[in-house]
Amino acid sequence: MSEEKKSKEPKLTIRETPIIHYEVIDENGDGEPECDEFGNNLFETREEAERVSRQAQVLDPCVHCGKSTAVGSGRFVNRIPADADYESKDEDGNVVYKDGEYRDGYSCPHCAGPDCWRCDKSIYIDEDITPEQCGLGNDLFSDGARWVHLDCLTTEEKGGYDKENDNG
Ligand SMILES: [Zn+2]
Ligand SMILES: [Zn+2]
Repeated sequence: MSEEKKSKEPKLTIRETPIIHYEVIDENGDGEPECDEFGNNLFETREEAERVSRQAQVLDPCVHCGKSTAVGSGRFVNRIPADADYESKDEDGNVVYKDGEYRDGYSCPHCAGPDCWRCDKSIYIDEDITPEQCGLGNDLFSDGARWVHLDCLTTEEKGGYDKENDNG
């Protein structure tokens, strides 16, 4: 009885298993792998590597939308220094930056303005319209909005805006 038990004692051994990681290499660069915002250069999924690869391809990426703000990008004029650390997604819902990823650089002018309170889309920098610009005495429009696109004004508000602008 006791002999049998002894033969069933664990006999442990450690084996190596292959772990696949992905890395992103610039073949025209110095051969050093590209890092993500956390400084990691080994990724567990191909999707993650593809995300880092997309970002590495972009010169001076906007900290919000990830699109280039470099000269010739169409977003260079009016770009502003900015940083961010929250999640942002592109128009298709793909994650551009993960929540908690700190990035520092520029915001493109499309992302630099406030979001429109009526359509939720961002407003090009300095093109947001406030109630004051429509000759209203309130901080908020009648529906409670603060910043809106010119195109999102009601006919009445637009009339007030045109009047204000004519008056200089
Ligand atoms: Zn942007
Ligand atoms: Zn709008």
